[in-house]
Amino acid sequence: MSRILYVEDNPANRLLVKRVLEAAGHTVLEAVDGLEGIRVAREAKPDLILMDINIPGMDGFETTTKIKSIPELKDTPIIALTARVMDGDREMALTAGCDGYIPKPIDVNLLPLQVTEFLGGKREEVPAAQKSAYLRQYSQQLVERLERKIDELTRANAELQRMDELKSRFISIAAHELRTPLTVMRGYLTILLDPEAGFQLDDKITEMLKGMEKGINRLQRIVNDMLDVTKIEGGTLDLHLSPLAIKDIIHGAVQQQLPFAQQRGQQIIADNFHGYPSIYGDAERLLQAFSNLINNGIKYTPDGGTIRIYGQVIHSDGDWHKQGFPAYTGDMVEIIVEDSGIGIDPEDQERIFLRFYEVKDPSLHSTSQSQYLGGGIGLGLAIARGIIEAHGGRVWVESEGHDPEKCPGSKFHVTIPLAPSHQRSFSIG
Ligand code: ADP
Repeated sequence: MSRILYVEDNPANRLLVKRVLEAAGHTVLEAVDGLEGIRVAREAKPDLILMDINIPGMDGFETTTKIKSIPELKDTPIIALTARVMDGDREMALTAGCDGYIPKPIDVNLLPLQVTEFLGGKREEVPAAQKSAYLRQYSQQLVERLERKIDELTRANAELQRMDELKSRFISIAAHELRTPLTVMRGYLTILLDPEAGFQLDDKITEMLKGMEKGINRLQRIVNDMLDVTKIEGGTLDLHLSPLAIKDIIHGAVQQQLPFAQQRGQQIIADNFHGYPSIYGDAERLLQAFSNLINNGIKYTPDGGTIRIYGQVIHSDGDWHKQGFPAYTGDMVEIIVEDSGIGIDPEDQERIFLRFYEVKDPSLHSTSQSQYLGGGIGLGLAIARGIIEAHGGRVWVESEGHDPEKCPGSKFHVTIPLAPSHQRSFSIG
C-alpha cells in the first residue's frame, strides 16, 4: 500500500481518482492547488505524486519543478495528468521534472496499473536530442509567466494604494463632517446641564441628559482619533515641543487611567522616573500615547491584574543602527508598559499597530474604556506609534503569545531619543 498525493483543483476528478486508487489499496492525499501541493508533499512525503497541469496559481509544471528542488522530495516520482492535447505537452512535463505522463480523461481501468508501474520504478524521459530545445522553451515560458505576474501584481498594488487613499479620504471627510454637529450637541448639553442656566430639570431628565453626554463623549473620542490618524498619515501632526520630564508624562497618563484600573480591581505600579533627563517633546501628545498604551493594558488584562510602568536610560553605544535608528547615536530613554493580560501572538505583534487592526472579532466592540476585552475601533496603537515616531522614537511589543487562560502578558517598549540634535528629524506640521 502506498501514499499518493493528488494535486487537482476539480473535486469530481479528485473523488474519482481517490475511489479508484483506494480500491486498489492506496492511501490518497489531496491538494487543490500548487502551493497546497508543495506544503502537503513536504509534510507527508508521499510515495508518488499525481500532478494535474491545469491548476490555478502555480501550474503543474512549476509546482513539479519546485517539488523536485526540495532535497527530501527530489526522488519522489511525479506523474503529470493533463487533458491538454497540445504537441509537446508530454515533453514539457518531463522537462519540468515529471517522471511520467498520463493523459486525461483518466482510464479508471488502467490507472491502478499505471500507478503501480511508476511506483515500481518506471520513468519516462525526453529524448536527449530534444532536451535542450524543450528546456529553452520551458524557461522562456517561465519568464513570460513571471513577467505577466509582475505586471498583474504592479497593477493590483496600484489599485490597493488607490483604495487606501480613498479610505483615508473617507476617514478624514467623515471625521471633519461629524465634528461640527457634535460640537453643537455638546454645547447645548452643557447649557442644559449647567445648574446656573436655570432649567428646572427633574432627576430623570438629568440622568437621561448625562447618558447623552456619555455617548457624545465617546463619539468625540472616536472622531478625535480619526482626525489624529488622518494627521499622522498625512504627516501633519502638530507637535508643540518643549523640554519635558518623563515623570510628569507618565504620572499624567497614570492619573488619567487610574479610575478605569480601579473599576477593574487592577493595580498600576509606576516607577517615579526621578533623575531621568528631560526629553524634548509635545507633552499632550506623549500623554495621549502613554494613555493609549496603559488603557490597552487595562482592557486586555483580567480583573485584579497589574500594569507596570518602568524604564531605563540607554546610553549611546554608537550601535543604534542595530535597533532601527540608523541616523541616531545619542542617548535614549526607554519606557516599558507591561501588563499581566491575555498577550499577543507573534504574528499579530506588528499588525496591531496598523490602523483599524484588531485581533478579535470587531463585533465585540464595547463603548467602555475599561471593560475586559472591550476594544475600541483599533486606532489606539496606530496613534501611539504615530506620536512616538514623530518624536524620533520607536514602539514595539514583546509577548509570548495570546492566551486568555494563562495570561502571559505583553510588554510595550517605547524609546525616545534625548539628544537635542535629534530635533532636526521631528516632524512638525
Ligand atoms: P483597540 O484597543 O481600540 O481595539 P488598539 O490599536 O489600541 O485598538 O489595539 C489594537 C489591537 O491590539 C486590540 O484590538 C487588541 O487585540 C491588541 N492589543 C493592544 N494592546 C494589547 C495588550 N496590552 N494586550 C493584548 N492585546 C492588545
